[in-house]
Amino acid sequence: MSNATMPADLLYAAQHAKGFMPHEEGTALFETAVEYGPRGPICEIGSYCGKSAVYLGAGARQAGSVVFTVDHHRGSEEIQPGWAHHDPTLMDPRFGKMDSLPTFRTTIASAGLEEEVIAIVGRSERVAGLWNTPLAMLFIDGGHSELPVTRDYEGWAPHVMQGGALVFHDIYPDPATGGQAPYRVYQRALASGAFREVRQEGSLRVLERIGPGIG
Ligand code: SAH
Ligand code: MG
Repeated sequence: MSNATMPADLLYAAQHAKGFMPHEEGTALFETAVEYGPRGPICEIGSYCGKSAVYLGAGARQAGSVVFTVDHHRGSEEIQPGWAHHDPTLMDPRFGKMDSLPTFRTTIASAGLEEEVIAIVGRSERVAGLWNTPLAMLFIDGGHSELPVTRDYEGWAPHVMQGGALVFHDIYPDPATGGQAPYRVYQRALASGAFREVRQEGSLRVLERIGPGIG
């Protein structure tokens, strides 16, 4: 595990950004990016307002790497109007849809991470179908129900290079504490024999590729 620490200005930016990334888990993301980033690019699925991208971007800077972050910015089903985590300030009244892209851009610009963090705006499965670059680290934090998280795993995990990291967010072994779809996909990754677990931090799980395929 890396002993790197985040510069105070980036830590401040991450902690004040809107989003769903507790500080301890964000720090683990940063440390993982520092450790794996020297091998190649990092990719995040689920940018939202850029909170996790600041932790990843800070790690990428120290590692001399970059972070691609993919999101259609229209929100997952669990953050639409009427749902517990919905943020009405992220609605675009012109289209009657959510739009987290302006907030994302403000977060990354305020953090001074525009060189390290590269936004891709679109549906994860469409981008995955055209992706061809081996990844040193993949962070899956997009749609959290069965179909999107399965598609993200099947579409993106094959691109994790040998020795690279596959990181899941929102892993809740106890159904009382959270949705089970990411947990099932995480178990599938472990059962495939292609990945071994190297770290747990809150609901974050860091796996490392030890063999081919995804199971
Ligand atoms: N990592 C963020 C939280 C991500 S929330 C943080 O640290 O705060 C999940 C995000 O995934 C939402 O912004 C949603 O728009 C996006 N998303 C869900 N399904 C998607 C899909 N199929 N393609 C692209 N983005 C998707
Ligand atoms: Mg999450």
